[in-house]
Amino acid sequence: RAKDGGGNRYELADPDSDARAIDRHSLTNHLPGALERDEFFLEYQPLIRMSDGRVDGAEALVRWRHPVHGRLGPDRFIPLAEHTGLIVPLGRWVLEQAVEQARRWQRELKEAGIERSLKEPLRVNVNLSPRQLHHPDLVPDTVAVLEAAGVSPDSLCLEVTESALIGADEDELKPLRQLAELGVDIALDDFGTGYSNLANLRRLPATTLKLDRSFTQGLQRHPADPVDVTFVGGIISLAHALGLRVTVEGVETEAQAHQLRQLDCDTAQGWYYARPAAPKDIPACWADSA
Ligand code: C2E
Ligand code: MG
Ligand code: MG
Ligand code: MG
Repeated sequence: RAKDGGGNRYELADPDSDARAIDRHSLTNHLPGALERDEFFLEYQPLIRMSDGRVDGAEALVRWRHPVHGRLGPDRFIPLAEHTGLIVPLGRWVLEQAVEQARRWQRELKEAGIERSLKEPLRVNVNLSPRQLHHPDLVPDTVAVLEAAGVSPDSLCLEVTESALIGADEDELKPLRQLAELGVDIALDDFGTGYSNLANLRRLPATTLKLDRSFTQGLQRHPADPVDVTFVGGIISLAHALGLRVTVEGVETEAQAHQLRQLDCDTAQGWYYARPAAPKDIPACWADSA
């Protein structure tokens, strides 16, 4: 129920959904050359540390400036890119751009003499699709991109959906484990949707759990739905007990933010704090005053 409600609400609020009527052919025809034509661009959405409200990092979210239909959101073309295999070069492009952006932000911070009270560097989050996850070059490519930019592995968080890891055996988890050992953060995205298996959590090389936006909805009411509070609070406690950090997605109201602080959530992301935006429009950049 919560999931359906969340999905519908999102579609209504999403400007990208104007494109819903676009026929598949037009996308299929234009997609293969889109990377060479430089039609993709990234927006970034800040992740806020709940303990003090500071910006912890930002998630890179890809968009397509379609020659005919204008701006399209990832839900419109990522599945197709995944299907055709374009996701591999596109994903690598996203990774390069995002890591380069991390380098730029880190340098700006340094030049501005802004000390971050966190020991960790400012981080960018990059979404990985299943096809990338199973590509043999994932580890060497990621290492190469980090080295080329000269940023440390803990400047990067790779987001993988839980469903992409369902049924993965130890061999299939190895690349992620290697990246985690190098210091790259691994987040389980959209956690709680699909086939959540709490026991499975123990064997995944994840450092962070991103609780899906559908669970945030129930925290919005006054008073919040006690079942949702118990549920979200329970997941957070369990994750902490397993040594995982928790990020909650889709925080849209002050009431939700307040509730999540009470529940000891580590980081939050959502329209209440900031919408995805071009790097230059990310407010107050990363200053501790944010
Ligand atoms: P996601 O990784 O779960 O990203 C969060 C989505 O929630 C984003 O949608 C974001 O704009 C949206 N969102 C953020 N805050 C709020 C809020 O407060 N309320 C609501 N209703 N929505 C919020 P977006 O940008 O349309 O991306 C959709 C999905 O596309 C992402 O979900 C991710 O799975 C995928 N995606 C985006 N960029 C990439 C990419 O570079 N590579 C791959 N493989 N997938 C990507
Ligand atoms: Mg994500
Ligand atoms: Mg997510
Ligand atoms: Mg999500």
